[in-house]
Amino acid sequence: MAEIRLVDISKRFADGTRALERTDLAIHDGELFILVGPSGCGKSTLLEIVVGLSAPSTGEVLVDGEPVTRKDPKDRNMAMVFQGYAIYPHMTVRENLAFPLRLARLDPAEIAARVQQAAELLELGPLLERKPAALSGGQRQRVAMGRAIVRRPALFLLDEPLSNLDARLRGQMRVEIKRLQQRLRTTMLYVTHDQTEAMTLGDRVAVLRAGVIQQVGTPRQLYETPANLFVAGFIGAPAMGFLPAEIEGDRLCMPMLDLPLSTVLPGERTPVPRRLIVGIRPEHFAAVQDARAGTDGGRPLPCFRARVELIDWLGAEQHLHLDIPVVGASDWPSALPTQITCDDAGNDHLRLVARVESDTPAAEGQLIDLSLDPGKLSVFDAHTGERVGSAP
Ligand code: ATP
Repeated sequence: MAEIRLVDISKRFADGTRALERTDLAIHDGELFILVGPSGCGKSTLLEIVVGLSAPSTGEVLVDGEPVTRKDPKDRNMAMVFQGYAIYPHMTVRENLAFPLRLARLDPAEIAARVQQAAELLELGPLLERKPAALSGGQRQRVAMGRAIVRRPALFLLDEPLSNLDARLRGQMRVEIKRLQQRLRTTMLYVTHDQTEAMTLGDRVAVLRAGVIQQVGTPRQLYETPANLFVAGFIGAPAMGFLPAEIEGDRLCMPMLDLPLSTVLPGERTPVPRRLIVGIRPEHFAAVQDARAGTDGGRPLPCFRARVELIDWLGAEQHLHLDIPVVGASDWPSALPTQITCDDAGNDHLRLVARVESDTPAAEGQLIDLSLDPGKLSVFDAHTGERVGSAP
């Protein structure tokens, strides 16, 4: 068990690349903490600094309050499971599991007991005499985890451990890692570029972009109250849709709908910038033909009509790609993450995705009436990209 703190960590490589900027993070004891971000944002660099494979340019790594920044990796009591999990092909599963303990010169009886315990935990018992070539990808992954577990580290670091697996196996392994962490209750720092993995696995998640932490929170906090446009667009699939909006008097004017500002930002006291970007999650639309939609506890929800350009029918639900005409889009700040396209007649359009039930009557090329819940919208400053209202 261990609590990890990163204090003011920066990393600048010899060629001048700035991989991390003044990073502060606290990973609680027993927590499964996810670091997520696009390729090249500094995830592996941060992990390597924690485990001791790379030295930070500034700052300290603390384990249970003790600085470890200048300690050797082998003295940090941490175990790392890498992207291309390294297990020895010429050794059996048993020998692979025992290897790190032999290196540490543990007593043979202790080695046998720990290997047995890890094999039981990971359900590798029947496979102990097999060599890696005779294992599936998921089983090899479990052996790699087992080699970390036998060492009984205070912290596990996992660098994209599932990226070599196919989608189905990745799903299964996610469940296994979560179950394992719940049983072991060892602190885990898990790095991925996959937001689904982050959302489904993490107790808490940090979103990293270009070496800067954007937000730290539970998956729910990141999803419901993203701190800025980057987090809003990165977390969630299908992604949040974005619209340019302007304040006129006490109304929030969007391309397909005007709403009273008080329904979107109830109780907001600080001045709201005039130019905004409104974020809408696909599930916050509802087709108004649906008896359950269109009202909020008896109050009618605002509705609008849009053309369905394309439908992704997924069985349990369908995703309607809506075409939204936009006026005066050309002078909008580039912070708007949605692409605005211009048709042959010179009119601007953008796309929003609505997630509705699979039996909702909808057809490509047809109009549909949809409602949306103003209280569920996310509002961002169009210039800074920062969230406006209810701080995360
Ligand atoms: P990925 O998901 O693709 O593995 P990442 O988020 O783990 O990416 P890092 O590997 O931490 O990203 O790299 C962060 C930045 O630092 C990148 O711009 C990368 O090109 C750069 N970088 C990494 N190692 C070095 C190095 N030794 N020298 C110079 N730049 C480096």
